[in-house]
Amino acid sequence: MTFQALSVVSEVYPLIKTGGLADVAGALPAAVAPHGVELLTLIPGYPPVMKALAQPRIVHRFNDLFGTEASLVRGTASGLEVIALDAPSLFAREGGPYSDAKGADWPDNWRRFGALGLAAAEIARGILAEYRPQLVHAHDWQGGMAPAYLRFGEGHPVPSVMTVHNIAFPGWFPPEVFPALLLPPEAFTIAGIEYFGGVGFLKAGLQTADAITTVSPTYAQEIRSKELGMGLEGVIVERQDSVHGILNGIDTSTWNPSADTHLAVPYDAKALAQREHNKRAIELGFRLTAQGGPIFCVVSRLTSQKGMDVLVEAADALVAMGGRLAVLGSGDPKLETAFKAAAARHPGGIGVRIGYDEPLSHLLQGGSDAIIIPSRFEPCGLTQLYGLRYGCVPVAARTGGLADTIIDANEAALAAGVATGFLFSEVTPEGLIAALKRAVAAYGHREVWRSLQVHGMKADFSWKRSGRAYAELYKSLIMPRRSGRA
Ligand code: ADP
Repeated sequence: MTFQALSVVSEVYPLIKTGGLADVAGALPAAVAPHGVELLTLIPGYPPVMKALAQPRIVHRFNDLFGTEASLVRGTASGLEVIALDAPSLFAREGGPYSDAKGADWPDNWRRFGALGLAAAEIARGILAEYRPQLVHAHDWQGGMAPAYLRFGEGHPVPSVMTVHNIAFPGWFPPEVFPALLLPPEAFTIAGIEYFGGVGFLKAGLQTADAITTVSPTYAQEIRSKELGMGLEGVIVERQDSVHGILNGIDTSTWNPSADTHLAVPYDAKALAQREHNKRAIELGFRLTAQGGPIFCVVSRLTSQKGMDVLVEAADALVAMGGRLAVLGSGDPKLETAFKAAAARHPGGIGVRIGYDEPLSHLLQGGSDAIIIPSRFEPCGLTQLYGLRYGCVPVAARTGGLADTIIDANEAALAAGVATGFLFSEVTPEGLIAALKRAVAAYGHREVWRSLQVHGMKADFSWKRSGRAYAELYKSLIMPRRSGRA
């Protein structure tokens, strides 16, 4: 039996991406397809999205969606079936999907993503003659209003799933926006969408969706705590029977070292020596002229969540122990400056590229010896999964999805031949430095290092398992409705 579902999301690879959310949203339709789910993606009609749509068709016009004209445009792009919410006054802007060119959040984000949620609910209510999904799957705060509009609107037409990719982004807006959201007054309560005196879009989704998922089993536990629940731990605990941890997969065709056109030379686990060519390309590109030691890379948002301040503090020690560092990232201006200063202190030992560069991110995974991920929290994390697949050994904090996907190279794991990386518990310069020391020591033993690489490359982090898990969850929500039990 085939089901139709609608994924509501603010970014989707390869049309528009700021982080892992886009990778996941881009891969999900193909992941659930083998299990009988046709998943369409509803996404804001940002300029690159509108440009990418092949054979676009206007399938609905809103005369007044939160005070603006808007239409739903259906088309395909890069193999994805997409419905774009084309509302130029909301989405046709220079800058990023959430913020202007200077990095300041768009002040009307509540209206932009409120409109997205409302459009999703309207589609689920049947405004499109040609397409009516049986389930809505909302992602993060930007999708969070979709389940709320379903719950507080007329009837409760289809079930919904709310996936938390990062609970640290609550989508909070002042209470003054509530009337404009066109919800009934009873929605503005603690049991509804009220959050710290204002409106919380993620909270809205968590309260009203039929099921909640997050992107790793460990993070599903961690967000029950005050420390990592970011004020939403109460809802998570209250709804614990509806919370599922489903690990993200990776797109194994985009991320395939044996057929990756962004690499100087492709390779596989049987031809690891070929990685040297990629390493040379990194040495050239990042001016890592210091001889010999392992190259550690970073591909990351430069933020405190990612523990980048801790890495800045550990950088001198990393060079002192013979390591080299290639950093690709952007984010907090203070951290960008600090990394540039570290590079200036260690010419030949540290190279930094500030910016977002998809091809370079592939080369770094394909040529560096290790990738450093000292996150304070990490819902799932994708860069360690790419690292594992590329023989780029992760050195990572023991948190969230990192703890679920990396097998630490302790004595037992090494003896059993199952280790794939290095984990450390204290996200402090000392904790990171101790892990880096272990990595540098292991790098000195060729066979040990090779075994880490090969075991990582063999691990299966494709979407197979997770695609089935999502499809089963969808079906478990749709079937009771169909038989009239819900
Ligand atoms: P998050 O979504 O929290 O930023 P993830 O590890 O889940 O972290 O996903 C990050 C994604 O963004 C990965 O695909 C990673 O390769 C990519 N990425 C992060 N920073 C950069 C950058 N500066 N250039 C290219 N790709 C990047």
